[in-house]
Amino acid sequence: MTSATPHSSAAGAHYPPARTVEDFQRNLAAVRLRMAQACLRVGRDPASVRLLPVSKTIDEARIRLSYVAGCRELGENKVQETFHKWEAMADLTDLRWSVIGHLQTNKAKLVARCASEFQALDSLRVAEALERRLQIEGRGLDVFVQINTSGEASKYGLQPAEAANFIQALAPFSALRVRGLMTLALLSAETEKVRTCFTLLRTLREQLRQSCPASVSLDELSMGMSGDFETAIEEGATVVRVGQAIYGARNTPDHYYWPDAIDAAPSIT
Ligand SMILES: *Cc1c(COP(=O)(O)O)cnc(C)c1O
Repeated sequence: MTSATPHSSAAGAHYPPARTVEDFQRNLAAVRLRMAQACLRVGRDPASVRLLPVSKTIDEARIRLSYVAGCRELGENKVQETFHKWEAMADLTDLRWSVIGHLQTNKAKLVARCASEFQALDSLRVAEALERRLQIEGRGLDVFVQINTSGEASKYGLQPAEAANFIQALAPFSALRVRGLMTLALLSAETEKVRTCFTLLRTLREQLRQSCPASVSLDELSMGMSGDFETAIEEGATVVRVGQAIYGARNTPDHYYWPDAIDAAPSIT
């Protein structure tokens, strides 16, 4: 149906860097159009899918241009980077930060302070640390449970079979508002293999809904990035996390963000 490009960093090469407000407006419009077309193909309302621009590695000056172009929430993979940007751009009072990468318990404090959303929850130790810090800060946090749908051993996220118990165990944490599930698909140029990961997340969500505590909502499915967001939308994504198609190709290799990415590349085995 779609010809999604592989979402390795090389796939970002055809995205030139956005350097002006007009560049950002054009890129955002292009992404929104592709999102709307994907919705149309499967009879979904385009308003049911949220675009989360991902600003990792992008400096403050360019992030401010994207803000002028309309970005009001940004995804960042690394906590320290999120915190520094949050501090530097505190004057943009309606800008919200979403942490979408792996978190270590010793950095829970920073997330509790600066983030509106955390999409990579996959351990009870992290949940406990976040809950404690959020109570101190007097804040709540929207969270997504990260699921490993690709079967790759070292990728972050819970195994699908672990999700039900994990979600049950989150119920007592009143500062954590569970919104749904998040995944990173297989890094592959083969659209149908990538699609399998997204389908798995959707069907897992349907199963979990039958047993999940009343305090937990599983409405959201965060899946899809620059190279595969259309496939993700066709499979039910309600949040797509898009960096390179908005900001331009990134030089940082993917394995800096998820350690097994290099192993997943078919050419390197
Ligand atoms: C970087 C990143 C994205 C966005 O990837 P792009 O290729 O820039 O669209 C999505 N999700 C996570 C977890 C990321 O770290």
